[in-house]
Amino acid sequence: SNGFTTAKVELRELGNTGLKLSCVGFGASPLGNVFGPVSDDEAIGSVREAFRLGINFFDTSPYYGGTLSEKVLGKTLKAVGVPRSEYIVATKCGRYAEGFDFSAQRVTKSIDESLERLQLDYVDILQCHDIEFGNLDQIVSETIPALQKLKESGKIRFIGITGLPLGIFTYVLDRVPPGTVDVVLSYCHYGINDSALEDLLPYLKSKGVGVISASPLAMGLLTERGPPEWHPASPELKSACQAAAMYCKERGKNISKLAMQYSLSNKDISSVLVGMNSIKQVEENVAAAVGFQLQS
Ligand code: NAD
Repeated sequence: SNGFTTAKVELRELGNTGLKLSCVGFGASPLGNVFGPVSDDEAIGSVREAFRLGINFFDTSPYYGGTLSEKVLGKTLKAVGVPRSEYIVATKCGRYAEGFDFSAQRVTKSIDESLERLQLDYVDILQCHDIEFGNLDQIVSETIPALQKLKESGKIRFIGITGLPLGIFTYVLDRVPPGTVDVVLSYCHYGINDSALEDLLPYLKSKGVGVISASPLAMGLLTERGPPEWHPASPELKSACQAAAMYCKERGKNISKLAMQYSLSNKDISSVLVGMNSIKQVEENVAAAVGFQLQS
């Protein structure tokens, strides 16, 4: 048989959670039309193809598309009809279209709203979203304890924190009891233009914390199409990435595939979360992973 077409993406353990995540994770922010409009058919087609190729991990947030990403993901998971025990859903709290609120009251209400939009009874991971914009001491003393209560109630299974500056992770993990924060989600720090997360991996491993790395394509910078209008990179970085994409293309290589393979190469990262909104993107990103598995 042809291993290339039948192989499924590898599963990797997530810290001490016991969860096994597909090494390619489905970033659902594009389902909130964050990178341009997506039809229901495209959303359902992409998620169905993801399952077929072994992707079992989906990440969203009430912030993406002002709750649209959660709604579309919920509708799509229902339409595809895979049993609940066979997939892992992460969503977030504390960041909304209206602004940030990491109070215990808000995040406790937030999970009920998310579960309703997702049409689920529980999420596997609830993450405090972009904590550098909140007060980190509030995250430690108020938000995470509120999430622990949600864990006891069965609405969430595991607790995570997300954000851009890597110092936020050590700040929080040094101040909470061991085992309270199960997962960190870092983004734009393990890709071909920035691999700063690598230095933090031994620390995270020593704490037993699972690591998810998002935005392997640097939110569109590492694509032939280029980033969306809102992308925060400097004009210099944008044009350097555009030049790199063209350089690869002239040599018959796709920069997105190379970027995926680089991010997937470190097995201390459980899942590389890539935003996808078409069957073609799902297939390309899985091919990057499977081709890499066969090589290694
Ligand atoms: P990304 O680097 O994954 O890039 C996504 C963009 O690349 C989209 O425009 C997508 O359509 C396009 N793309 C995907 N596969 C492609 C391919 N094979 N060829 C060409 N283009 C391709 O950035 P992202 O979507 O921001 O990050 C991925 C996910 O990680 C998000 O959807 C979200 O779930 C999560 N995330 C979380 C945080 C946070 O918690 N703070 C931050 C960033 C990302």
